Amino acid sequence: MQPQTVKQRQTKYCDAIEDTLSRLGHATNSELLQFIRTSFPEVSATTVHRATTRLAERGTIGIAPAARDGSMRYDTNVAPHDHFMCNQCGVIRDTDVIDRVKPILEQSIAGCAIEGRLTISGICKQCREKHS
Ligand SMILES: [Zn+2]
Ligand SMILES: [Zn+2]
Repeated sequence: MQPQTVKQRQTKYCDAIEDTLSRLGHATNSELLQFIRTSFPEVSATTVHRATTRLAERGTIGIAPAARDGSMRYDTNVAPHDHFMCNQCGVIRDTDVIDRVKPILEQSIAGCAIEGRLTISGICKQCREKHS
């Protein structure tokens, strides 16, 4: 296979991953693979893994808190933000509360400083409605 062809294929998969992630918001490599296979049945887990690694290194996609099974999860939103994660279904949502809650949290742990972003866990709306 010509190097040129390999490069074009990689670009094609990177584009497909970016596009899929922007629709899903957050996704693991295996979730991305599942979606991308509907358009590119030949794509392998390794290809997806390489593409997400490259896109994350470039800063084209962000890194979200890991999925419940510990697998790496990617984020279409590259701006710094906080997350809510559902303990039941594992769904993840973007939020942006650090500026508001940081003073309260830091006051409660006097002398310590909070760094980075928050991941708050709970039960999402869909799961609450299912169980009510
Ligand atoms: Zn849920
Ligand atoms: Zn996010």
